[in-house]
Amino acid sequence: MIIGIPKEIKTHENRVAIQPGGVVQLTRNGHDVFIQKSAGVGSGFSDKDYEQAGATILDDVEDLWQRAEMIMKVKEPIAEEYPRMREGQIIFTYFHFAADEALTKAVMESGCIAIAYETVEKADRSLPLLIPMSEVAGRMAAQEGAVYLEKPKGGLGKLIGGIPGVQPANVLVLGGGVVGVNAAKVAAGMGARTTIMDINMPRLRYLDDVMEKNVTTMFSSEANIRKLLPDVDLIIGAVLKPGAKAPHLITRDMLKDMKPGTVLVDVAIDQGGCFETSKPTTHKDPVYLVDDVLHYCVANMPGAVPFTSTLGLTNVTLPYAVDIANMGWKKAIQKDPELLKGLNIANGTIVYEDVAKAFDLDW
Ligand code: NAD
Repeated sequence: MIIGIPKEIKTHENRVAIQPGGVVQLTRNGHDVFIQKSAGVGSGFSDKDYEQAGATILDDVEDLWQRAEMIMKVKEPIAEEYPRMREGQIIFTYFHFAADEALTKAVMESGCIAIAYETVEKADRSLPLLIPMSEVAGRMAAQEGAVYLEKPKGGLGKLIGGIPGVQPANVLVLGGGVVGVNAAKVAAGMGARTTIMDINMPRLRYLDDVMEKNVTTMFSSEANIRKLLPDVDLIIGAVLKPGAKAPHLITRDMLKDMKPGTVLVDVAIDQGGCFETSKPTTHKDPVYLVDDVLHYCVANMPGAVPFTSTLGLTNVTLPYAVDIANMGWKKAIQKDPELLKGLNIANGTIVYEDVAKAFDLDW
């Protein structure tokens, strides 16, 4: 199969859909990989790295899309890319169709085969192609929170880990899933006294077993959250209610119970945010104040660390890509129910229920 890797053109997107090791694996399986010139530079991979791995570098992006039987990307195609999609071509990337009607229609009209990273699903209902990005965002949340606690950054001016004789900061993590556990690990690793709240008791029991001694668990309720607010220095929002907007666990009136310079990092901002006062921000302008409480609400946190995010993403996407290339998409989804869940649109028809429902379309 001919596999094409275009350079990502969405603003501030420096990730790339394949790393040189992935090219080696695909070419060893007898496939041809065409990659757009400088596509990997933002993630630390030169054209030479890809050439040595066996890829062919193409300068002309139209030519690349034209030749490729399968396009691998990171972000959903944007308007400039719509005319490049063509009938029968497999596109394997993040799509997030339910949030984008124009994209859904463009993909349907093109007749391409859209396999979406975000809906590939394991039998235990976990989403293997989303997990690495949650891991990145969780670890970054603690790191960014620690930086924004510094006075010149707008925070209250506390060193997250304290020093001998001076107590560390208190960190509250709301939601003990993938983001939450990674945030807690890094916060606790820096020495913070960390509390994880969740509503899932088996999950709290598990976290109580495996986390470090400076991490405690608490059932998530309004009363428990209010109890901690006066002493908390950093709150990380990491809840997810599948298929729904994030619940507002911190309301505006709760801000007055916090110290001025308390830092709120809302990782759940891509689902609307779990603080009432959250609004999406960018890496260029990540924070703002509400009632003297500093809010950090960047919607694409992994984009800031493409060297890590590209490797994390391609580690998990490559095995599926190899199967699709080896067997063709039809056989690959027949063999693998996880990949079948990833199929969203094929030959102009929506085949994923939630996407059809989002636009009141038949499926
Ligand atoms: P997850 O499903 O692994 O974990 C979510 C946890 O929230 C679960 O353990 C669940 O029990 C818990 N929860 C639900 N309701 C709760 C409540 N009322 N109180 C406390 N806990 C509650 O999800 P995840 O992978 O950790 O993702 C969390 C959020 O982070 C998602 O919205 C995801 O889209 C987002 N995310 C954002 C970025 C970014 O760049 N901003 C990157 C990756 C993920």
